[in-house]
Formats: sequence, C-alpha cells, structure tokens
Amino acid sequence: MKSSGLSLLLIFFFCNVFAQEYTNLKPEDTEYYSPKPLEVRVVGNNIPDDALVLFKGEDLNEWVSQKDENKAADWNIEGNTVIVKPGSGDIKTKKEFGSFQLHLEWKSPETIKGEGQGRGNSGVLLHGLYEIQVLDNNDNPTYVNGQAGSLYKQRPPLVDVKADEKGWHSYDIIYNAPYYNKDGQLIRKGSVTVLHNGVLIQNNTQIEGTTEYIGLPKLKPHGKGPVILQDHGDLVQFRNIWIREL
Ligand code: MG
Repeated sequence: MKSSGLSLLLIFFFCNVFAQEYTNLKPEDTEYYSPKPLEVRVVGNNIPDDALVLFKGEDLNEWVSQKDENKAADWNIEGNTVIVKPGSGDIKTKKEFGSFQLHLEWKSPETIKGEGQGRGNSGVLLHGLYEIQVLDNNDNPTYVNGQAGSLYKQRPPLVDVKADEKGWHSYDIIYNAPYYNKDGQLIRKGSVTVLHNGVLIQNNTQIEGTTEYIGLPKLKPHGKGPVILQDHGDLVQFRNIWIREL
C-alpha cells in the first residue's frame, strides 16, 4: 500500500509538471519558417510549371520504343493526341523516375470492336512494372481487377468512372515507389493513389509486386524506372501527359 501510494504521488507530480510545461508553450514554439516550399504556378494550360511535359501534341521526343530504346517511339500523332500503333510495341519515357505525380488523358478507340480485355486495352506501367489498366469501360464487362482503373490483377477501382461527354478520361496518379535496400531486401512496399476524371479510384493502394498476367505478383528489387504506355493492339489515344517527380 505504501509503495502504491508513493507511485500515485509521483504520477500526480509528473502530470503536473508536464501540464505546466504545455501551458507555458507559446503558439510560435510550434511554428517554423524553413525550408520554404518551392513556388509552383499552374498557368493557362493547367500544367504545373515544375512538371516535365511528356507529351503535348507535337512530338514524342521524351519517349522511345520499349523493345529497342535506341529507336524512336513511332506511335501516330494526330493533332494533340498520340494513338497506339498496334504491333509497334510499348513506348517508354527516356527519363527514369522514382516516386511521382503523373497526369494523362486517354480515350477508347472510335470503332468499337472486341470485348472484355480485347476492347480498347492499353495501360500505364509505373516503373514499367505495375500496370494501371486502361480499358474501354462502356458496357464492356470483364474481371473487376482488370477493368479500367484497376491496379491490374491486384485491386479493382473503388468506383467505375465513365468517360466525359467527349469520350475522354483523365488519370492523376500519385505513385510512391517501393524501397529496397542495397541488398535487395524490401523495406517498404510501393503504393498508388489514382483519381479518374477527378474521382478517387485507388486510395493509397499497396502494391504487392509486379503485374503478372498469370500468377501472383512478384517482388523485384529496382531503383528508378520509366513510365511505359502499353501497346495491346488497340487504337487507344492519349494526350496531355506530364509528370512531377516527388
Ligand atoms: Mg492493359
């Protein structure tokens, strides 16, 4: 009894000391002024001025062929869009990135053909390894973890967002790369948040590993990597692509 009484007294004493310390705090004790966030402006074209523009309609100078990175990306440019050239293969960014914020817009082929995964299929491969699915989602049933906006074969989108009145979709992708140490051990899994036409469809989704068509995701140590756009044989269009490395 004696010792528990002493304990209570000590607890009371320390609580009082801590309470007094907090009441002595001034607002400015928890405010700081540096480092200052960099200034960013979003001007007329809605692109932040610290973004790297990957495609705005004139050329594919920021891209190469995935099959052969010495070859230029030769998808077809029409106006301000680039259209998959079936059979030419995926295209990938010349530059490699760690974690990033990526914006792009896509549109399903004008002519509807095929069904399920065979209709308007393309994709955005983060680090060339983790696919955010691009797929015609206009009355085109398929497995939900392979529909538009899914982290392919891992996580369906939270909701099925439809195209705008002109048939366009936008993806805003915030990707946190996985972290492997120098021995190739996974320290932290990657994650991805996606807004589809401004609507949240992936909410800090943990990435379990590489996108696999057959079988489970695999862990593959890597550092920085490219963004890849998929040639799945369909005439999917893309426009207005920019990226901010985080
Ligand atoms: Mg795909």
